[in-house]
Amino acid sequence: MRYQAPRGTQDILPGNVGEWQAFEAAAGTILTRYGYREIRTPVFEQKELFQRTVGQETDIVQKEMYCFKDRKEREFALRPEGTAPVIRSYIENALWKERQFQKLYYIGPMFRYDRPQKGRYRQFHQVGAEAIGSLSPLVDAEVIALMGETLRAAGVKRTILKLNSLGDRESRNLYAVALKEYFALREKALCPDCRRRLDTNPLRILDCKVPSCGELSRDIPPMEGYLNEASRTHYEQVRHWLEVLEVAYEKDKNLVRGLDYYTRTTFEYHHGELGSSVALGGGGRYDLLVEECGGPDTPAIGFSLGTERVLLAASQDRGAGISSGRKESGIYLVWLGEGALETAFKLANSLRRLITVEMDPENRSLKAQLRQADKLGISHVMILGEQELAEQQVQIKEMATGSQEKIRLSEIEDYINTRIKNTAVQ
Ligand code: AMP
Repeated sequence: MRYQAPRGTQDILPGNVGEWQAFEAAAGTILTRYGYREIRTPVFEQKELFQRTVGQETDIVQKEMYCFKDRKEREFALRPEGTAPVIRSYIENALWKERQFQKLYYIGPMFRYDRPQKGRYRQFHQVGAEAIGSLSPLVDAEVIALMGETLRAAGVKRTILKLNSLGDRESRNLYAVALKEYFALREKALCPDCRRRLDTNPLRILDCKVPSCGELSRDIPPMEGYLNEASRTHYEQVRHWLEVLEVAYEKDKNLVRGLDYYTRTTFEYHHGELGSSVALGGGGRYDLLVEECGGPDTPAIGFSLGTERVLLAASQDRGAGISSGRKESGIYLVWLGEGALETAFKLANSLRRLITVEMDPENRSLKAQLRQADKLGISHVMILGEQELAEQQVQIKEMATGSQEKIRLSEIEDYINTRIKNTAVQ
């Protein structure tokens, strides 16, 4: 029996994990500077949470959720997105009592039963942020700018920002009626799903993946014409503050996004090379969601970035993935002869409080151990043979220069702190 990773999933192997860690660390740094704090929620939740929030008519809920029953017949789903769980936690833990304006971020795997292809997986990863508790358009502009900064930190350069506003509840409802009229005249050309959506949720037709529905959506009346005064002013203000922050954007009247909870501002970052159907990430306001989930009336806005796509775009923009950063210095402790083993084994263990130490678990030749040190790309080799042991010394060799010194065993820690730890290898 040969086992394989499930279709649409992938292993992140040690050779690639460096770019993942670097991206997640860079994102964490930027998010922290903007005042966001990390939150970690379970990877599965009650199925109903997503049905209610993401929306019954969305592709995510209709076709893409991984659902299962536990032993007590309770229905759960692997999380297909991060916002609903964060809001569930916000309400359950009454986080508004702790801070009136909560800025939270998450990093982790999401699951959608999608058709696997380039940039589309069944387990994928997101970095996302939620700013909960303000309706100010300053927050919209800042969240969008923050998303752009996160992409920049990942080394993604050629981004295109698309922006739209769905308006508040009143505007959205008006627009839904207009869309229903528009599509009703073209009902025969709609796919069966969209014919149903015509009655249940006409906005969802705009992100149908069937090409003929996409064609029909191209000439829809622009949402902007249906925005009420408050929504129009908000949208204008968001654009104003984006201009102040010198964030370039394109208006996109079809940008409704594939989740039901959005109101007012919606946005997506795209990348020329990935194609328009594959966004790097997106987000929007969801001013009604907290209340709909049983919390207090609380406006909010958030975004999520798909890590796989960000790393793909970064590799295209710089010809290589995000750098895994400077490689740390380290020591390969070569031991020779059984007599040196006990001291070497103890030494390696204690030096690891200071620095990376590798040691051969087999009793192999000097040549074999040096070859291994070279293969691992370690900065220094420390040699402890029986003769060195008798002299209470070790030999230390810097691999890059070949320079070699004898150091007393009692002075090794000092030598590492002053001479090795700072010589990082590229
Ligand atoms: P969404 O929640 O659908 O707006 O997705 C936000 C971002 O998550 C997208 O722009 C992608 O970068 C990423 N994403 C969503 N679905 C997938 C998937 N099936 N595979 C890989 N990345 C995905």
